Amino acid sequence: MRCRRCRAPAVIEVRRHNAGFCSTCFLRHCAEQVRRAIEEHKMVAPGERVLVAVSGGKDSLALWDLLLDLGYQADGLYLGLGIGAYSDESGAYVRTFAESRQARLVEIDLPSRFGFGVPEGAAAARRVPCSACGLSKRHLFNQAALNGGYDVVATGHNLDDEAAVLLGNVLRWSTDYLGRQEPVLPEAAGFARKVKPLIRLGEREMAAYCVLRGIDYIVEECPMAEGNRHLGYKAALNLIEEASPGSKQAFYTGFLARGLPHFRPESEEDRGELKPCTTCGAPTPSGQCAFCRLVDSVAAVGESTPVPVPTRRRRARR
Ligand code: SF4
Ligand SMILES: [Zn+2]
Ligand SMILES: [Zn+2]
Repeated sequence: MRCRRCRAPAVIEVRRHNAGFCSTCFLRHCAEQVRRAIEEHKMVAPGERVLVAVSGGKDSLALWDLLLDLGYQADGLYLGLGIGAYSDESGAYVRTFAESRQARLVEIDLPSRFGFGVPEGAAAARRVPCSACGLSKRHLFNQAALNGGYDVVATGHNLDDEAAVLLGNVLRWSTDYLGRQEPVLPEAAGFARKVKPLIRLGEREMAAYCVLRGIDYIVEECPMAEGNRHLGYKAALNLIEEASPGSKQAFYTGFLARGLPHFRPESEEDRGELKPCTTCGAPTPSGQCAFCRLVDSVAAVGESTPVPVPTRRRRARR
């Protein structure tokens, strides 16, 4: 197979585009897709400061690398989740990348700052780990952006992630979530803008990008991901994509163009008035915000007792 752009031997085939790319053209293709997503959805304006939420995985490190190369003022934010060796290793990958690019990295460590990690928080609040983790990330990313004077928080959700979330929301007809599944969540009082610049690139492309750019990332799946429904949705979508390349992108972009406008009004109506959290001041429907309640539930069970972290699984290769 030859490169679609320069006819040199291809190193990667992207079946969705029915095209092969040589290394140089593939890296350009990735940058082009990010630039187009940012422009099309007005994610970042010139001169704005971006805070990239980096986990140590391929997507967020590739996103940070791409934003820096595209000339954005992009700092990284790493949240230590207290998930045993997985967190130690993922933090090390993030620090190595930041150093190699001489980029600024902001770090928040959940256990040393709040006295618990995701496993302990989830056990105390009787939530599944991904729920305790997700709400902590949303709260702390937003707070870090506001405190640091950033205009926008960028996350590494790629096309596969968004299509899997969409499938889950459609299977349950979660119309409120469907109305909010936007690539850009605009800024509002107490909230920084949230953007997903990787929506035009798939998981496999991001892994190839990191390999070709020499970016080391954590390959293992988070050990708390067991039972996460999105992994099953991704597997189902991969089967469909295998038989019919381009389906995943058509599903997601078709939703943005033709589905989302139907659900947006209902979702906007559902958003009631927000008041400052009685503990931290973050906007919340009433009383304490979900993160402060999580902190309090850990305090209520006394000294945070370490919860064993499950054995790690290798990420399934496709
Ligand atoms: S798999 Fe769940 S617990 Fe692990 S990082 Fe993702 S959201 Fe957090
Ligand atoms: Zn080429
Ligand atoms: Zn709060």
